Amino acid sequence: MQFYSTQDSKHKSDLKSAVLKGLAPGNGLYMPESIPTMDEAFWDKLAGMTVGEIGFETLKHFFCPDIPEVEFKQLTADAFNFPIPLVKVTDKISSLELFHGPTLAFKDVGARFLARVMASFTSKGEKPINVLVATSGDTGSAVANGFLGVDGVNVVVLYPKGLVSNVQEKQFTTLGQNITAVEVEGTFDDCQRLVKTAFMDEALCEEMILTSANSINLARFLPQMVYYFYAVAQMSKEEREKTVICVPSGNFGNLTAGLIGHQMGLPIKRFIAATNINDIVPQYMKTGKYKPAPSVATPANAMDVGDPSNFVRIQELFKHDWEAMRESLKTEVVTDEIIHKTIKDVYETTKYVLDPHGAVAYKALEKQLTGDEKGIFIATAHPAKFPDIVEAEIGREVEQPERLKAFLKGEKQVENISGQYEDFKKFLQSNAKFK
Ligand SMILES: *Cc1c(COP(=O)(O)O)cnc(C)c1O
Repeated sequence: MQFYSTQDSKHKSDLKSAVLKGLAPGNGLYMPESIPTMDEAFWDKLAGMTVGEIGFETLKHFFCPDIPEVEFKQLTADAFNFPIPLVKVTDKISSLELFHGPTLAFKDVGARFLARVMASFTSKGEKPINVLVATSGDTGSAVANGFLGVDGVNVVVLYPKGLVSNVQEKQFTTLGQNITAVEVEGTFDDCQRLVKTAFMDEALCEEMILTSANSINLARFLPQMVYYFYAVAQMSKEEREKTVICVPSGNFGNLTAGLIGHQMGLPIKRFIAATNINDIVPQYMKTGKYKPAPSVATPANAMDVGDPSNFVRIQELFKHDWEAMRESLKTEVVTDEIIHKTIKDVYETTKYVLDPHGAVAYKALEKQLTGDEKGIFIATAHPAKFPDIVEAEIGREVEQPERLKAFLKGEKQVENISGQYEDFKKFLQSNAKFK
């Protein structure tokens, strides 16, 4: 399949260059040039399929034969290798728990898949692909763990010294193997500047292959459609048609994948997009005007986004028709106060422990469900990742999963550099494994 740019629909790329470039020229985002519909045979066998098998059947339309089918089958089985349970919370509402992967957050799904797609583009003897990521916390850990042990790909994570939490830092500095953590004297913006300067440094890019793994990469957002199909696989036909899925949204990549799934035939009733008080998209639904704003800090911090990068993809899916979009996609804004209260209330009435992001989606769903509709909210992070916020509301400790404890025991291994670009360049050039 070819992928076109949202900036210029005549600009098309094949899979490999769209994935390795990430961004299309002029800062466009890549979109699939057509969206397939799943056939009867798929729906007949869906109920018995694993997440990996669903991944193969749905995503092969976009990724094969550029990646040979036999190889892609293995790739999807390997990428989608952790459980994604659908857990009943109340009579009407269930939680699709996407936090059972390596870093206990849903970004593991996209990162694991992207890593394996990139690896399929390298072969023995060729130069390695080097992924540079600047992180203020969570992205670094999902990307590093997604790529851990993947042959032919190195990851360099840059983070601001002293400015990420202990748990976050341990999740990407203790890994070793093909992952290098670099502590930078400076802020997150400095880290981002170093990465951007490296990408634009033509001499450096002659010496080594540099690429990014951020959420605008099509191989990071597309695989997120898989769990929507997996959720309906666990329901009867009657239930599917009454189902409303609520997605806690920041950059809107997760929702974009769900909407593409919907166009492929996902038999649910509708989607709701829930945000925290960074309400750029809900405002757009009201006024028809898209007005980016500086982001505001909230307890659901992975959704603190003032200019959602994937929103342009959603506009493409609705052919830039504002009326059509607000007709079929509802939004809801949840304030900080209500996030805290929802964690408390849901725990008291059901014993279910929400994380702040899941709480946004739960509340939006509860408010908007009508008649005989049934709701699913996407639980994007494990509550143990936000112990201070959650424990204050539920009045007890949150159990730490073994995986989190193991990270905390690991030994930190880092390189140190100043915020000067020349230092970063020297570090890359003096390391034979990047070439
Ligand atoms: C990234 C993230 C989100 C937002 O997902 P988008 O695809 O950016 O809308 C929600 N919850 C958590 C925990 C996240 O890490």
